[in-house]
Amino acid sequence: MERKRILTGDRPTGRLHLGHYVGSLANRVRLQDEYECYFLVADLHMLTTRPEKQHIEAITENARQMVYDALACGIDPQKSVIYLQSAVHETYELNLFLEMLVSVPRLQRLPSLKDMARDAQLNEMPFGLLGYPVLQSADILLPRAHLVPVGKDNEAHVELTRELARRFNHLYGEVFPVPDVMVGDVPTLVGTDGKGKMSKSVGNAILLSDDERAVEKKVAGMYTDPKRVRADIPGTVEGNPVFMYHDVFNANVEEVDDLKERYRAGRVGDVEVKQKLAASLNAFLDPIRERRAAYEARTGFVDEVLYDGTVRMREQARDTLLAARKAMGLTGVWNKVSRKAEDARKKRVKAEGAGSPA
Ligand code: ATP
Ligand code: MG
Repeated sequence: MERKRILTGDRPTGRLHLGHYVGSLANRVRLQDEYECYFLVADLHMLTTRPEKQHIEAITENARQMVYDALACGIDPQKSVIYLQSAVHETYELNLFLEMLVSVPRLQRLPSLKDMARDAQLNEMPFGLLGYPVLQSADILLPRAHLVPVGKDNEAHVELTRELARRFNHLYGEVFPVPDVMVGDVPTLVGTDGKGKMSKSVGNAILLSDDERAVEKKVAGMYTDPKRVRADIPGTVEGNPVFMYHDVFNANVEEVDDLKERYRAGRVGDVEVKQKLAASLNAFLDPIRERRAAYEARTGFVDEVLYDGTVRMREQARDTLLAARKAMGLTGVWNKVSRKAEDARKKRVKAEGAGSPA
């Protein structure tokens, strides 16, 4: 039986972080044997907030680093396709078809888009940013994916994809599966600043490629209970990002329980809580670092992975677009135009031939 398919991806705006891991990457790694997996480097999505040349110039290197991140977490390039979105031109075409099936107010109601515009310091909503989830839907429908593992901020976008798939199928015939969303164990990992979600663009992220020292420094600077100016003041554990990270990344549950108890009682210093967190994060990241180093030692390997994946995706994309255009009747339109033109040309040649002197 043919395996079901997964599609998901990340924008090449920097290296991947712990939020990507818990929100989406962990599921990708876990499901790659069960599903046929397609992961994209979403560089067209990057253009929605960063169209300037300097960002485009950074895509190649950011993409390479993201592929390293994915491989380091355990994505196997033999099993999974990793591809560059902008090099698969069917993406643009399917995006355009889908744009016809959604209203502007439907998109304007999505809070994630306003958040993105704000984070990118844009005063007005760009046309392309409003279409962000439509483009995402084109990505998802291109390999005719059944499942989309993403973080919480993307859940509403997949809901839109479901609507678009249904609408397309209803208007033109069954071409696309209606994909399910799968949100990670930690739907939204908070940033080290405790303000909002961990994000590459905001500078509140612990990267999967950070070394031990960098992790220690970032953890030492983490936002925590501001009431605790001294170690003997009882602190709040709930909603405290330091303890949220402990809950997710510290495998030693007894240690976490003990720290929480002493924190609530004002019997532990922030330094100890943070040092233990840094140690557990480093223990979590060590195998990822090792795998990354092994891949980095293979010169040119990531470039081949991305190239081969893109070539494979292009085949998939051609098949899907052919099916979509056929279902819509657009292939038929062109066929008729060319047939009529050919007939007309034949008639003209014949008439000219008959009219000329023998
Ligand atoms: P940017 O700041 O450029 O938007 P980002 O860090 O938000 O970058 P994206 O490329 O937008 O990363 O997201 C890639 C995937 O990772 C999406 O599925 C998203 O939901 C998930 N993700 C990103 N950040 C987090 C987070 N803090 N917690 C859980 N999931 C996350
Ligand atoms: Mg984002």
